[in-house]
Amino acid sequence: MGLQEISDRVAQAARASGRDSDAIKLIAVSKVQPNARINAVLTEGHRCFGENRVQEAASKWPDFRARFDGIDLHLIGPLQTNKARQAFELFQAIHSLDRPKLAKTFARLAQETGGCPDLFVQVNTGEEPQKAGVLPSEADAFVSDCKALDLPICGLMCIPPVDEEASLHFALLAKIARRNGLDGLSMGMSADFEKAIALGATHVRVGSAIFGERTPG
Ligand SMILES: *Cc1c(COP(=O)(O)O)cnc(C)c1O
Repeated sequence: MGLQEISDRVAQAARASGRDSDAIKLIAVSKVQPNARINAVLTEGHRCFGENRVQEAASKWPDFRARFDGIDLHLIGPLQTNKARQAFELFQAIHSLDRPKLAKTFARLAQETGGCPDLFVQVNTGEEPQKAGVLPSEADAFVSDCKALDLPICGLMCIPPVDEEASLHFALLAKIARRNGLDGLSMGMSADFEKAIALGATHVRVGSAIFGERTPG
C-alpha cells in the first residue's frame, strides 16, 4: 500500500458512486508515525494530514511547515478545553467538537483571534460509553447550539464500533448531517474508507494503509 494506491482507491470509489473525487479529502493520519515516513509522503506531494494529539502535533509539524508549503492539518482526536488555543494555532480543521464547554471556548477564541478552524461535530453513533461524541439523539440540538454561537460547523464525524458493520454507522451519520443541512462527513478509515465514500464521506481518515502499521512507543 502507500499514498498512490490509496489515492487511486479513493478516486475509484468516488467514480463507482458517481461522485467527483475532488469532493473527497484524503486525510493521511500520521499519528505515531516516524518522521521519515511523513517526510516521504510530503515529498510525494501530499499536504493533508491528521493527528490525534495536540502535543504530538505541536512537536513535529512546525518543522515540516518550515520546509513544505500548504500543509493542511486536521485534529481527529479528543481535545481538552485547556488545549483549545494551541489547537486553534496548529490545525486548519478540528473533527472532535463534542461538548458545549468546548463549543463556548471555540466561540470565545474565534472572536478573539478573528478566525476559526473548520469544525466537525463528533457523533458517538454506536452510543459506546467509553467513546467521545454526542449521542445521535442529542446531535440536532448540539449542532444548532453551535450554529447559534456562529461556529463554522462544516459537518459531522464518527468512529464506528470496531465489532459492528461500519456502513450502518456511516448511513446514520449521513442521515443526521442531511437533516441538519450539513455537507461534510468525516468518516472511513483504512479498513472501510471505500464504504464510507459510497455513503457520502467528504473526508476519509486513513493512517496505516498509507504509512504502514503504527509502531507503538
Ligand atoms: C488513528 C485514527 C484513524 C486512522 O486509522 P487507520 O486504521 O490507521 O486508518 C482514523 N480516525 C481516527 C479518529 C483515528 O484516531
